[in-house]
Amino acid sequence: MRVRFWGVRGSTPTPCAENLKFGGNTACLEVRTPSGECLIFDAGSGIRALGTQLMQEAAGAPINANIFLTHFHWDHIQGLPFFAPLYGPKNSVTFHSGRTGRGLQETLEGQMAQPYFPVDFAQVAACRAFHELDADAVHEVGGASIRPFAMNHPQGASGYRIQCGDSVVVYATDFEHGHAELDPVLLEFSRDADILICDSQYTPQEYESHRGWGHSTWLHATELAEKAGAKQLVLFHHDPTHDDHTMARIQMEARTRFKDTAAAWEGLTAEL
Ligand SMILES: [Zn+2]
Ligand SMILES: [Zn+2]
Repeated sequence: MRVRFWGVRGSTPTPCAENLKFGGNTACLEVRTPSGECLIFDAGSGIRALGTQLMQEAAGAPINANIFLTHFHWDHIQGLPFFAPLYGPKNSVTFHSGRTGRGLQETLEGQMAQPYFPVDFAQVAACRAFHELDADAVHEVGGASIRPFAMNHPQGASGYRIQCGDSVVVYATDFEHGHAELDPVLLEFSRDADILICDSQYTPQEYESHRGWGHSTWLHATELAEKAGAKQLVLFHHDPTHDDHTMARIQMEARTRFKDTAAAWEGLTAEL
């Protein structure tokens, strides 16, 4: 299994010189299974460059992509209209999410309806399918076993535990710690992860004025990694105000609590 980060920022893209090292694109993670299937987690602005790479790799052959969405806040879907494989008639894109209540297809159509975007989602050329997944169930996709779980976030969000053979990656972004019911669920799903990708938007000081906003701190991420027995921790969903200098400091402080920690940066790749 190979993991690559295409977007690591939370809330809104932050393209500026001060963020060149860690990157300014919003959430997008690529997971390649041993059989070469491409699983994509979230469709923030980072998915645009991933789409371009997939088109280059395919060189005209059909592309089959699976996109798993944690939830529908802008920073997790805003890159979708610019995902080039969507516009190829030979391609197929399957969308997965937790239960939406409103319908996954309808929810995604909303961001491309007029007057928000010139191309209607119903008119994109790729073959599309929509799967709403039950939390806690195991879903087999592209040679990986994927288990979604509910997280504490305004309007809800799904985390994903992704397993190929003995290798486990946990993608847990957009949650706030301190929820009596959902904290134990997160801990359980994070157990023994080889890589735990974790919401760490705030410093502990910043968190005090952002309680209830649905995000956690790097300190909480290190505590979770420790408790869960994770091998590596990746800090994710960086706050828009955290420039490279701040991110380097956060990474350093987090490493004093959990040694094998990296703050995610665009292009970070891990092989399992
Ligand atoms: Zn977010
Ligand atoms: Zn969110």
